Amino acid sequence: MTGPPPDNAEIARQLDAFASLLELAGAGPYTARAYRRASDLIRSTPAPVAELVREGRARELRGIGPGIERRLRELVETGEIEELKELQREISPELAGLGRFLGVSVKRMLEIGRVLGVRSLEELREAAHEGRLREVPGVGPETERKLLATLAREPRAAPRPLLLHRSRPLVEVIAEALGGIAAGDPRRWVDASHRLAVVVAAEQPEPVLEEFEALPQIVAVVEREPRRALGVTVEGVPIELVAAEPRRLGTELVRATGSPEYVGALGPLPEAPDEEGVYRALGIPFVPPELRESGFRGEPSRLLELADVRGDLHTHTTWSDGKASVYEMGLAARERGYDYLAICDHTVSVGAVPGLDADGVRRQGEEIADANERLAPFRLLRGTECDIRRDGSLDLPEDVLAELDWVQASVHGGQRGSREELTKRVLTALESSYVSCLSHPTGRLINHRPPNAVDLEAVFTRLAEQGRAVEVNGLPNRLDLRDEHVRLAREAGVAIVVNTDAHSTRGLGNMELAVATARRGGATAEDVVNTRPLDEVLARRFGRP
Ligand SMILES: [Zn+2]
Ligand SMILES: [Zn+2]
Repeated sequence: MTGPPPDNAEIARQLDAFASLLELAGAGPYTARAYRRASDLIRSTPAPVAELVREGRARELRGIGPGIERRLRELVETGEIEELKELQREISPELAGLGRFLGVSVKRMLEIGRVLGVRSLEELREAAHEGRLREVPGVGPETERKLLATLAREPRAAPRPLLLHRSRPLVEVIAEALGGIAAGDPRRWVDASHRLAVVVAAEQPEPVLEEFEALPQIVAVVEREPRRALGVTVEGVPIELVAAEPRRLGTELVRATGSPEYVGALGPLPEAPDEEGVYRALGIPFVPPELRESGFRGEPSRLLELADVRGDLHTHTTWSDGKASVYEMGLAARERGYDYLAICDHTVSVGAVPGLDADGVRRQGEEIADANERLAPFRLLRGTECDIRRDGSLDLPEDVLAELDWVQASVHGGQRGSREELTKRVLTALESSYVSCLSHPTGRLINHRPPNAVDLEAVFTRLAEQGRAVEVNGLPNRLDLRDEHVRLAREAGVAIVVNTDAHSTRGLGNMELAVATARRGGATAEDVVNTRPLDEVLARRFGRP
């Protein structure tokens, strides 16, 4: 052993690096995750972990198994992990990120790198132009042609759009590191981002561009101009950096934020240091980012805001597939400043997860009553996410539903049914006297399952007649209703509920995604049920009183 033993931060850093490379090497997500968890743990351990390792006590730390312990011992004894060094020799994160960006599998890309002895985009381009790609086993004329074309074209779109809960933190962390502003699709709260951008004001662009290139999140820069660069993350997600002259910051921000259709419709953009100045010079009212979609020019109304929301009406607990107890969910909601929270656990016919029957719902009612005594004046509502069965009947008897404060009705299985089947199923469910709100109406799972075929117009018409509500579900992979459907619902006169469908106390934080999606659909506080005080919510629990 040379030098002092590595401190906890250094050990954690090495384990993180190991986890990232294991992931790139295709070791399976479980192994990488175990190393990341160990790294987090070691970082937050107050005692020097190197000593524990020396004394053979590393396993006393939770989550450290024999595999990780062996590496820790190696690291403490020799100052390095041999396998990590090997992986670092073999795997170029730049190539992995590029592969994902170009639509070539990481495995294939790393093989190309190994065979050709290249580690960067520059070297890869050179080798490709020299016609050496075909030296790689498995790369035939077809793949070579494709690779050459993609290398020349430099596609901008992410191979797979990034969900909002990942896209926003990603641009925000980069913006913060560079002292800039997050832009692109995430600034408009687009459900799945294709275009991520950061705009920085800079007299001198070079230092900013260099800082950008050196960020840990950016593994390759595929385009570089005097005031612009396109970087790629290890996941292959492209991020555009714009280093704007300070007097043009507003101009570049408007350009980097709006959809291409929206920006195009504005015509030539005037120069201004801030966005307000751009709109003033254009002679049109300021438009919040969420509404900067195809050609919106009107005077926006005051949109719903997170602070308007007084409660969450769709959450789960350990009674079904949630992680927190009734009381813990209530406490977390109260800490968020809410006045009320509806506990809406699943019912039995969902099948895939545990659900409550009539008896379960009633027993849960007692626990909710107890929790309410401890949480008053905050109120937990007795609710359900009642499954809509295949025949359109509800999965709880009417007398139980009638006791509840809030009934979310949801279609789960059978999302691939025909338009006729699904519409009939939902409309039949709405015949019940005891429905408050229709949950995640299109059943979509972004990047996994397309929206179902339900006739939303017919459903909205019925809900409007009944004075019942429809949900904007805030789970990042649902966001259902989506923006344009929120607009349709509002136009049909249907009240909106913004919900998180939280399965943990942390999940309550997704309210900002539900709110943003409602804003993209033009929703105001008046359009939304859970901006109202509790008595008003209860008064309309089964439709317009
Ligand atoms: Zn559901
Ligand atoms: Zn749910």
